[in-house]
Amino acid sequence: MSQTPPPQRPSYGLRKRKQPEPRVAETAVTRLVAAAAQCKHVVIFSGSGLSATSGMSTFSTKGGLYEKAQSRFGVSNGKQLFTYSFYEKHKADAQAFFADIYVEAKRAKPGAGHQAIAALAAAGKLQRHYTLNIDGLATAAGMSVWHHQVSPEGCTVEMHGSIRQLLCPVCGLVIPMNDFLSQQLRRRTKIPCTACSCPALRSRIMMYGDAEGEKITPDDVWERMEDDVQAADLILWVGISFEQSASTMYFRRVRQFLAQADRLASTQQAIINLSDESLWNLLSACSNTRSLEVLEVLGTCDEVLKLVAAAVCKPAGATPDLLEPPSKPLEPPDQPLAAKKPGQEEASGVLPGANVLTIATTD
Ligand SMILES: [Zn+2]
Repeated sequence: MSQTPPPQRPSYGLRKRKQPEPRVAETAVTRLVAAAAQCKHVVIFSGSGLSATSGMSTFSTKGGLYEKAQSRFGVSNGKQLFTYSFYEKHKADAQAFFADIYVEAKRAKPGAGHQAIAALAAAGKLQRHYTLNIDGLATAAGMSVWHHQVSPEGCTVEMHGSIRQLLCPVCGLVIPMNDFLSQQLRRRTKIPCTACSCPALRSRIMMYGDAEGEKITPDDVWERMEDDVQAADLILWVGISFEQSASTMYFRRVRQFLAQADRLASTQQAIINLSDESLWNLLSACSNTRSLEVLEVLGTCDEVLKLVAAAVCKPAGATPDLLEPPSKPLEPPDQPLAAKKPGQEEASGVLPGANVLTIATTD
């Protein structure tokens, strides 16, 4: 019995003989690297996944900071330790806990991901790095910190502050944390401000509902972000789980800034994370109005950022042998992402050959 090939799968035998095979199949990683090779102005938003190989605890994962806070202080939810309302009632305990986090951050080392971002900055290709991390590892990797008055050219914006600094909530004085100060705080000793009469400095980290948040992230940051995003040709969301409302808010803001400049279609965006949970979290926080393409790259921040930095920083005219596959697989085998979870109406824009999703958000 004769068989005819199904019409939707024509034979490409002749074409294969005439055209060279691609060196690697197009995956989300190779697609991102190819896009990065054309880019000059990269904006990066980073979360705790960036510091995963640096020895820092993440917040919400098993054994993370929330769990540690929960067991140490007997609170029902470790997240409470990072709320301003808890801090107001238990300042000494909260500060002692933050001092412990400082000790952990000080022991941590910048990972390959941090170094890759620093390389982008050194090559003049990093428009700005916005980090949600408080570990200060970007500065440990040699990156300068943005401050709207003191260092407006700084390349890393610490959106949620830094555990490596203490802040006076009254006069705004900022001093570096050190071993002596952290020991004092762990003994529940207050550190008075030397510039005003305030009796106790606090860690310069953004807590939930922080009444002193303006002193940590000044409103000027939004103007900075608007200019950066509108100048960007590639925006990367790195190691962000999108479990926190702040990160989805930043994503929406970025989308608004791009829309205002009519750059939604021309600015490429990618989410880099080990797990596909981050994209699904983002999708569930978004509603469907206008569409936006986002490339999902499943891999470690270290591996993927190294490839991106190499592609962006390559000498002009060089051919990308950067499309060589990485030493170990970055992604699980391709699998359809559409309709994977219930209630994901926006997840219907999967393009063949790469994990590109069309995401829609309200303005
Ligand atoms: Zn003061």
